[in-house]
Amino acid sequence: VARLVLILGDQLSPGLSALRAADRARDLVVMAEVMAEASHVRHHPKKLAFTFAAMRKFAARLAAAGWRVAYTRLDDPGNTQSIPGELLRRAAAEGAHQVLATEPGDWRLIAALSDLPLALRQLPDDRFIASHAEFDAWAAGRKSLRMEYFYREMRRKTGLLMEGGAPAGGKWNYDAENRKPAAPDLFRHGPLRFDPDDIVQEVLTLVETRFADNFGQLRPFWFATDADQAEAALAHFLTTALPGFGDTQDAMLTGDRFLNHAFLSPYLNAGLLDPLDICRRAEAEYRAGRAPLNAVEGFIRQILGWREFVRGIYFREGPGYPTRNALTHTRPLPPLYWGGGTQMNCIAQAIAQTREDAYAHHIQRLMLTGNFALLAGIDPGALHEWYLAVYADAHEWVEVPNTIGMSQFADGGIVASKPYVSSGAYIDRMSDYCRSCQYDVRQKTGKGACPFNLLYWHFLDRHRDRFAANPRMGPIYRNWDRMPPDRRATILAEAQGLLDRLDAGGTV
Ligand code: FAD
Ligand code: SF4
Repeated sequence: VARLVLILGDQLSPGLSALRAADRARDLVVMAEVMAEASHVRHHPKKLAFTFAAMRKFAARLAAAGWRVAYTRLDDPGNTQSIPGELLRRAAAEGAHQVLATEPGDWRLIAALSDLPLALRQLPDDRFIASHAEFDAWAAGRKSLRMEYFYREMRRKTGLLMEGGAPAGGKWNYDAENRKPAAPDLFRHGPLRFDPDDIVQEVLTLVETRFADNFGQLRPFWFATDADQAEAALAHFLTTALPGFGDTQDAMLTGDRFLNHAFLSPYLNAGLLDPLDICRRAEAEYRAGRAPLNAVEGFIRQILGWREFVRGIYFREGPGYPTRNALTHTRPLPPLYWGGGTQMNCIAQAIAQTREDAYAHHIQRLMLTGNFALLAGIDPGALHEWYLAVYADAHEWVEVPNTIGMSQFADGGIVASKPYVSSGAYIDRMSDYCRSCQYDVRQKTGKGACPFNLLYWHFLDRHRDRFAANPRMGPIYRNWDRMPPDRRATILAEAQGLLDRLDAGGTV
């Protein structure tokens, strides 16, 4: 009898382990657009449209390659609206008892599949460069897990940017060269854009009617939605943006939301691109003299290092990881995250582009929306659901360690060795946002003082017990202690006033 081959919306890779284990002549591929997944959090309309369109195109590609595909559209009359429901429905119709699946990227679905009254054969997701076993072997016995050391292992394993046993250029990491502010440049291209084809048009109408109230702008829709388009987007990035990637990596600029960032994460995370292939192609640009080492190393580190590292953490830490709250932050997520308005220009810029494109680059997520939430003591679980909902590249395995771990320190320091917090000075150095802000970044107290300046000290003061002994934070506490007591009291009182305003539903 036929087996069912489950393919999820982020498993759109022809070489997927479940497909490799299946028999094209006999087995039935099951793909389904279901409300349980589409409304688990209120996903951005562009993210939904991207996922449904890419799924439909992938199903058509499998069918053209000779697979039998049972595809459920969101509004099909028989749709049970959940993954387990669809598997049971297809199993009954087919007389099937066994399901072949590639391990899902979130604990919730892993549990749902293992609860099925069908025989489940769950295969490893080997589209990643490090297996769970490899990551766990690396992590075992270490007092702390630092991405940098894992990354070096991955460099050695893959030979990427290696010369003999040594790193290319003599150093493992060129980050020190990648912390420059950016100047406007009319010649920066931004990511490649695609006109919606018939399949995309149909999906846009569906999303427009079914998810009209979700935060985010659906149109204009310009994402790649199949492997050929994603490949074109990659080729475009390698030639136009990679050479400048390092120089502008941490910068933020009004009116240039992508700078030299790749906008490849939605495609990569959906399975339309392969991580090792991307890294090798980036390396080839360096070897051919078309891109400098600081750019290529920085880019490869994001994929070979960070992306693999956070995945390792997500699976190693187990199903309870998304609910960690080491700093016991409980403030509800303020409406400004959903476009409710703010006078902070930096946050307003990040939210506006999130609304339009389901995208913000790393420093905007970490040092604007993440930094503000951490300083203001926002419930990390609520923030995690926000990131999961609003970004086109968000899937739990990658979003949770970045939010709960790196950004909010809610895992108590597994991903980050110290909290990513900053006052307004950092934002001013790395962006042009402060120039057009109603707040004054140089003002530390009083009317018009930048909220980041006030909340920064409030955060440090309320978490003194935890962080004062951290060697990298000691000097900051010494600065705080050197301030006159009445100045410290003013800062804390004004910060508290700001938090009270947030709690009362006011804007900041
Ligand atoms: P580039 O800057 O061009 O980087 C190239 C690639 O490196 C990316 O496409 C991505 O695949 C990878 N990468 C870079 N940084 C990371 C990282 N920290 N973790 C994993 N991969 C990384 N990334 C996601 O893919 N999904 C998420 O849900 C997600 N949530 C995040 C939440 C927070 C709070 C923070 C601080 C970061 C998050 N990131 C997430 C990481 C990072 O912000 C995005 O990967 C990046 O902005 C994607 O845009 P890009 O393709 O232009 O990236
Ligand atoms: Fe953001 Fe403060 Fe600068 Fe305004 S002044 S843009 S709130 S950092």
